[in-house]
Amino acid sequence: MAPRHQAPRGTRDLLPGEIERWQRVEELARGVVERYGYREIRTPIFEDYELFARTSGESSDVVQKEMYRFQDLGERDLALRPEGTAGVCRAYLEHGMAGHGRIHRLWYMGPMFRYGRPQKGRFRQFWQIGAEVIGTEAPGADVEIIALFVDLFATWGMPDLTVAVNSVGTPESRRTYGRLLVDWLGPVRDKLSPDSQRRLETNPLRVLDTKDPDEQALLQSEGWLASGAMPRMIDVLDDDSRKHFDAVLAGLTQLGIPHEIDHGLVRGLDYYTRTAFEVHDRSLGAQSALGGGGRYDGLIEALGGPSTPGVGFSTGLDRTVMVLEERKLAAGASKPAIYVAAMDGTRNEALMLVRQLRRRFTIDVDLEVRGLSAQMKAAGKSGAAWLLLLGEEEWKKGEAVLRDLGSGEQRTIARDRIEDELGTRTEFTATRGNA
Ligand code: AMP
Repeated sequence: MAPRHQAPRGTRDLLPGEIERWQRVEELARGVVERYGYREIRTPIFEDYELFARTSGESSDVVQKEMYRFQDLGERDLALRPEGTAGVCRAYLEHGMAGHGRIHRLWYMGPMFRYGRPQKGRFRQFWQIGAEVIGTEAPGADVEIIALFVDLFATWGMPDLTVAVNSVGTPESRRTYGRLLVDWLGPVRDKLSPDSQRRLETNPLRVLDTKDPDEQALLQSEGWLASGAMPRMIDVLDDDSRKHFDAVLAGLTQLGIPHEIDHGLVRGLDYYTRTAFEVHDRSLGAQSALGGGGRYDGLIEALGGPSTPGVGFSTGLDRTVMVLEERKLAAGASKPAIYVAAMDGTRNEALMLVRQLRRRFTIDVDLEVRGLSAQMKAAGKSGAAWLLLLGEEEWKKGEAVLRDLGSGEQRTIARDRIEDELGTRTEFTATRGNA
């Protein structure tokens, strides 16, 4: 026997029954971003490896440990995308989008790939939706992006998440802050993991990003060091970044968006500037981040373009779907509205009628030329709300029978009025039940 295959570790199939929840989440998201006036952009699922190495940072976990990197048959060095912003900025430059309007509001949705250790809420292929505002430094753009982010969760039925925000300043203020962190952590350096010890040398802010629960506890327990509580980025911000941050906070307050400053929230790359934010759902345990984002005013320049500010977010759909499922905020399976049953003498007519009706309605029909009782059973199982029965006698008289499969009531309708009759009943146009 041929060996049976399984989906690769960390990936999974989304089957009918579950996919409806995904479709619902995607549909709601599309509605929100479009009402905000963002335009969709689709970039390739793989890009030059170098693009990600440059934008995510050579020293980042994503690049060092989690990249699906491969050579194609032409020996190109490629990688499956681990995130969306790099591709969007590459496309922005490649197509000279700066020449077609100063500010671009863009959004994307699709699969991303990271070779991490699979666990609850963490996969090797996962889906993200994200949005970017490219072309303005205005704090209003940060506020709009955060508002969009929060509204997305609200539309998904998660209205009360708190946004954690911080400012990571400029590369200069980050260097100052990095030195403070090194001094602060110096005395306990040997209590840190080898990864964090290495980061203390290369990129000290990254230590604050540690996923190690013991280290997280250490960092959060104020006064665990003789040197006192963790230094705060906010205390070393340059004046412009401070003003920007205050304006963002004021904008969030103005819009009534609940937020708190998280002094440990950093993005360790040089391209990240000023605003950084995240939302969490603590019920998810270790993998609680539902999404995050921030400003990346240095990124496009780092890709060889002119200095161009940008701000954006991305959020994982897998965890959102999981939370919705746990909270029973799910969409039900799609069901046909009408089951069409035919007899030997009406089968051909049924085929033509079904094709015609399927332009407007969700129809199920027997494919196997079975007897009427088998079709009636199938109609019951299909979840259809109505049965349209094309009996030979009625058909000859120019009629068909429409039965309500819930109540069992039925009535005869004229054959040439079938589509109009169905159309006047709005319930037939609904393709998705809520059971
Ligand atoms: P990041 O690009 O790391 O800031 O991730 C943004 C969001 O994508 C996270 O908050 C998660 O919701 C989601 N995400 C990141 N990595 C994974 C993964 N391996 N599996 C599932 N979701 C993920």
